[in-house]
Amino acid sequence: MEPEFLKHLNPAQREAVTAPAGPLLVLAGPGSGKTRVLTYRIAYLIQSVGMKPYNILAVTFTNKAAREMKRRLEGLLGDDAARLSVGTFHALCARILRREAERLPFSANFTIMDADDQKRLVRQVIRDLNLDDRRFPPGKMHNMISNAKNEGRLPQDIPDYDFRDKILKEVYTLYQKRLLEANALDFDDLLFWTLRLFDEQPEVLEKYSRRYRYVLVDEFQDTNMVQYELTRRLTSHYRNILVVGDIDQSIYSWRGADYRNVLRFEKDYPDAKIVLLEQNYRSVQNILDAAMAVIAPQQDKHRKKLFTKRGRGEKIVVHEAENEEAEALFVVRTIAEMVARGEARPGDFAIMYRTNAQSRPLETEFLRAGLPYRLVGAQRFYGRREIKDLLAFMRLAYNPADEVSLMRIINVPPRRIGARTLSTLRDVANHASLSAGHLLLHIAESPNDYAEVFSSTALRALAAFGLMLKHWYELAFTASPLDLLDTIIEDVRYKPYILGDEPIENESRWENVEELRRLAAEYPEGALNEFLEEVALVSDQDTVDDSENVPVLLTLHASKGLEFPIVFIVGLVEGVLPHARSAEDPGGLDEERRLLYVGITRAKDRLFLTYTRWRTGFGYEEPAEPSRFLEEIPPELTVGDHPLKGAEAFSAASSFARWEPEPAPAHKLSFKVGMHVRHPLWGTGLIVGHRVRDGREIVDVLFDSVGLKRLDPETAGLEIE
Ligand code: ATP
Ligand code: MG
Repeated sequence: MEPEFLKHLNPAQREAVTAPAGPLLVLAGPGSGKTRVLTYRIAYLIQSVGMKPYNILAVTFTNKAAREMKRRLEGLLGDDAARLSVGTFHALCARILRREAERLPFSANFTIMDADDQKRLVRQVIRDLNLDDRRFPPGKMHNMISNAKNEGRLPQDIPDYDFRDKILKEVYTLYQKRLLEANALDFDDLLFWTLRLFDEQPEVLEKYSRRYRYVLVDEFQDTNMVQYELTRRLTSHYRNILVVGDIDQSIYSWRGADYRNVLRFEKDYPDAKIVLLEQNYRSVQNILDAAMAVIAPQQDKHRKKLFTKRGRGEKIVVHEAENEEAEALFVVRTIAEMVARGEARPGDFAIMYRTNAQSRPLETEFLRAGLPYRLVGAQRFYGRREIKDLLAFMRLAYNPADEVSLMRIINVPPRRIGARTLSTLRDVANHASLSAGHLLLHIAESPNDYAEVFSSTALRALAAFGLMLKHWYELAFTASPLDLLDTIIEDVRYKPYILGDEPIENESRWENVEELRRLAAEYPEGALNEFLEEVALVSDQDTVDDSENVPVLLTLHASKGLEFPIVFIVGLVEGVLPHARSAEDPGGLDEERRLLYVGITRAKDRLFLTYTRWRTGFGYEEPAEPSRFLEEIPPELTVGDHPLKGAEAFSAASSFARWEPEPAPAHKLSFKVGMHVRHPLWGTGLIVGHRVRDGREIVDVLFDSVGLKRLDPETAGLEIE
């Protein structure tokens, strides 16, 4: 019997969901139900084909997407969903590597280094090699290492063409050595080690490729080379693979993603069944048309148009503001008004921008208006000093070899362990083939053995720290993550340290600690590795909290896969979107275009696009040009300040003016200074300025809602009150 849930699919979706075993590719535009197809296929495989959940692997782009998918599947399948493997490539690989650790040059309690610590380690390596970090900037070297790993290259695979290659090779080699010594892996390692494990130890590959009878991958256009190869290995036995994606939405090439994996897939699985979906269930037609206009110049050619049965919807509002502050004011006022009029709930809104820094004026305006909001972004929380400190303590407790963490916190709060003592500690450890952390554990047990190596004060400080570490190390495997965290906070007297002399000012730091305690509290005893893994692999999107009924602020990159009833995209000016840097690399401009396409297609019902006349640089303002992408949206889909509307009106008016003696107005003048007027969006205002330009009236109106605006009353639909 056909499962009930197939009713919630259109014929093309159903075809994909119920397709026979074998390779399957779903290519389709945003909002067409790709993620739904993937989710329902899992349910179908279990309910109708009789697959065991244990044998199914679904790969998502973020942890949040994984949780969401699991939640949906629980709704469809009940308890069966618990045994499914759903997660990101990174999380999946971490699990495999821990399980197979005895075959690998690190142990099962390896830590995952966060992006900051990775860079810090590269910097240290560059210093230790006596290289000039201005000539070889750590950020750049780290990127090159990351690229090499994502292309599947070991240090020895780096060619020796020139001096720079040699340096890269040296840095990469030592970086990798240090990681292993610290029993730590970086993000790329998780993927890379797994791929090597599969290739070098066929019996391991055999095990996993037999376990996962079905593999399903969402957001396939943003997989990188190593991820693609992993998928191929994992499906080598059964070849039951479903990938879903949209080339027009690939926006992570700067992180090594390669949409050509879609083309590789078609080549590597020539027998793949291909399903195209064309109906969009998310957005109204005006929004879809705007999106299609933006992507048209480079659209993936073998796809047809998107359509919706949801109707035209409201027009897209385009708004020109003087500067970023006025833009933020427009956003916040519009939201406040729509909420006050009962047209929307606060949680219906999302405000998107190209770069993180653009959130600042918006946050200021929300704060001024006294309206709560939520800023999406992992850095804001996980980048805080107090969070990084405490996580370093916890990582060290889990993996005492983690030297980057040890060095971060050995003097937090200050313990007077000096640079000389630390360097001796390292030398002795090296000599004994131990990590510095493990040596500390020894010192704690028998300090007298080291009486000749360290001064008595140094030895006392080291032994005291070693004793605490010993206790934490035990707790790491027996207590809950929260108990461990609280013990650490207590042992090192972290609260008085963080509150310091300015308890009021530093209160927010302590609030962050409380937030971390809340996160830790969600994990049971013995789940420290899960907790650490989750926080190491956190992405911006994982901080989107749907349960709060407040507007969210997020970058266009973080908006991938999400949807919101009402979307604002701000800062649509040249240099911001497209970003100035995009001119530097080939294909950069196309990726910016796709980024806006992704943003627009997040909107279900209403879309607001804003740009500014002035742009704030570093301490100065410069004139801004509306984004070229904005100009590509047909003006008739919009109301407000479409940049071409002004120009069109201008050229129409000027050809008309040729027949009329200047400066006689083409129309009867109807507005005067002092008149009360009403604007369809901004409500009531007072005319404070009036002039005639090329035969058309231009008025300055002081609106109660948004302040001063200069506009063409006819285009704007201004009415006399
Ligand atoms: P994106 O490319 O942005 O990731 P997508 O193709 O994955 O989008 P989904 O997120 O799966 O699209 O679906 C978009 C919206 O449409 C969701 O709210 C989903 O529940 C809804 N939807 C999809 N298919 C149907 C359907 N057949 N009937 C009703 N609603 C649907
Ligand atoms: Mg999706």
